Amino acid sequence: MRVRVPTLDDVDVDGKRVLVRVDFNVPLQEGGVVGDDTRIRATLPTLRELLDAGATLVLASHLGRPKGPDDEARLAPVAERLAELLERPVRYTPTSGPGASEQQTFVAAGESGSITLLENTRFDARETKNDPELAKVLAGYADLFVNDAFGAAHRAHASTEGVARLLPSYAGRLLERELTALGALLDDPERPFVVVLGGAKVSDKIGVISNLLGVADTILIGGAMAFTFAKAAGGRVGDSLVEDDKLDLARDLVTEAEERGVRLLVPDDVVCAPRVERGIEIAVHAIDDIPDGQKGLDVGPDTIRRFERIVLAARTVLWNGPMGVFEIPPFDVGTRAIAHAVAESGASSVIGGGDSVAAVNAIGVADRIGHVSTGGGASLEFLEGRTLPGVAALGSVGGA
Ligand code: ADP
Ligand code: MG
Repeated sequence: MRVRVPTLDDVDVDGKRVLVRVDFNVPLQEGGVVGDDTRIRATLPTLRELLDAGATLVLASHLGRPKGPDDEARLAPVAERLAELLERPVRYTPTSGPGASEQQTFVAAGESGSITLLENTRFDARETKNDPELAKVLAGYADLFVNDAFGAAHRAHASTEGVARLLPSYAGRLLERELTALGALLDDPERPFVVVLGGAKVSDKIGVISNLLGVADTILIGGAMAFTFAKAAGGRVGDSLVEDDKLDLARDLVTEAEERGVRLLVPDDVVCAPRVERGIEIAVHAIDDIPDGQKGLDVGPDTIRRFERIVLAARTVLWNGPMGVFEIPPFDVGTRAIAHAVAESGASSVIGGGDSVAAVNAIGVADRIGHVSTGGGASLEFLEGRTLPGVAALGSVGGA
C-alpha cells in the first residue's frame, strides 16, 4: 500500500536548475502581507537542502483561485516572506502568469544558486486544464522537477502532474514525510488503531470511512455527521444538521462495520442549544432524543469520557474533523478534550483537515502530535485509497 516514489536521496542536484512545485497557498492580509506562513515554513527543509546541494531554484505555486491575472493574488508578499525565512534574496517579478514571455526572460536571467519565484500558476487558465503547452514551458525552466506541494498533489494540473511527465521528477521532503506518515496508517498500523472523525458533513468523509473500515479497529464519530448516523438508526435529532440523502449510506456503513468487526461508535450524549452563539445556555441530551428547537453542537460529557478512554488506549490514532463547533465556546469542549487525549496517548498520531489542524494549533498541542498534515483535500483522497496524480507522475521520466 505504501507509495514508492523517487526522493531527493535519488538525485544529485549540484549545478542543476530545479523547478520546485511548492504549496504557498497562504492567506494574505490587508495591505498584501502574508498571514499564517505555516505552508511556507513547511517546505523550507526541502529548499535549504536543494540550495546547500548546489541547485538553482525556480519555484511554482498557486495562491487562491484567480480566474486570470489578478493583483490581489500576486505572489509578491510570498516572495518577501520567503526571503526573510531563508535569509536569502528571492527573485520575483509580477507578470501575467508563470509562462508569460517576460517571465521566461526573467527566469533565464537567474544566476547559479539563485531562487526565482514564478507568478501565481493559476493566472494561466491552462494550469488547471493540465495543458501540455504550459507544462512544456514550465519544464523548459529547469533540468529537474521536485514536487513538495502535498496540498496540491490530488490535482492533475500542469505544474503538478503535467510537468512531472516531462522532467526527471522527485518528491521533496515535505511530500515524502506526508506520504510516509499517511501511508503508515493504511499499511500495517500498530494496534489498536483508532480513527476519530468529525466535522461538518458525512458526504465529505464517506470515502475515508469506507476505506478505513478495512484497516481501523475503532472509528469514533463526532461533529455534525454523527446526527446523520443517529437519524439513520431511528433517533430523534431535533434541529441538528442532518444529510437526509445520506441516511441509507450511513446504514450501509454501520452494516459494513459490523460485518468487518470494526467498532463504529457515535456519541451517546450531545451538547445542545437553540443556535450557535457564544456563551449561550446549553443542555445535554441523548443523541437519539433531542427535542425540536435544539441543535446538537458538541459531544456530551459521557461521550467525551468514553472517547478519551479509547483514544488513550490507542497505539495509532488518525483524527480528522472537529467534534463540535469548536470555533465558538462553549462548543469547543469536546474538540479540546480529544486534542489533549491524542497528545497524551503516546500513540503514533496523524491529524488532517484544515479545521482540525487549526483547532490543534489553537489548543496548543500540535507539537505533541506525530504528524500534522498540510493537505486537507489531498490527505482525505489519500486515505480514501486513491492515487494522487501529482504523486503518481513522479519518476515517470528516467533519472538524471
Ligand atoms: P476539517 O477541515 O478538519 O476536515 P470539516 O471542514 O469537515 O473539518 O468540518 C469543520 C466544521 O464542522 C467546523 O467549522 C465546525 O464548526 C463544524 N461542525 C462540527 N460539529 C458540528 C455540529 N455539531 N454542527 C454544526 N457544525 C459542526
Ligand atoms: Mg474544513
